[in-house]
Amino acid sequence: MVGGDGGTGLEDWTAHAKGTCDGCGPFRVAATSVTVRQRLDDGTWSYRVRCPSCERWMLASMRPRVALQLLLARAPFEAWSLPDSARECGHGEPVSIYELPQLRADLARIDVVDVLRASLGVG
Ligand SMILES: [Zn+2]
Repeated sequence: MVGGDGGTGLEDWTAHAKGTCDGCGPFRVAATSVTVRQRLDDGTWSYRVRCPSCERWMLASMRPRVALQLLLARAPFEAWSLPDSARECGHGEPVSIYELPQLRADLARIDVVDVLRASLGVG
């Protein structure tokens, strides 16, 4: 995960971001070497950064507030979206935060695919 710790933003061109590499552990890079990404079809934010030790790419989601801090620190920005064919076209209500524990429990079931198929009427 990356967290901005640069502080003041715009004029703070030495702002840094902290991250953790699975192989090398925690690291610190200039905010400008983190690419901020926004997914256009759902508005979610993520980032792309290269571990300074092993040069492995990492990609993960982040909160809008952290994205904003990084952008203020002049991190590069890219927009992306899934191709139309890869997007889900659900018709139900969006999942609320209160339903996440139940969703998590459902996804942990060994028969999760069967449950989903049954709920969609395609079993
Ligand atoms: Zn690494």
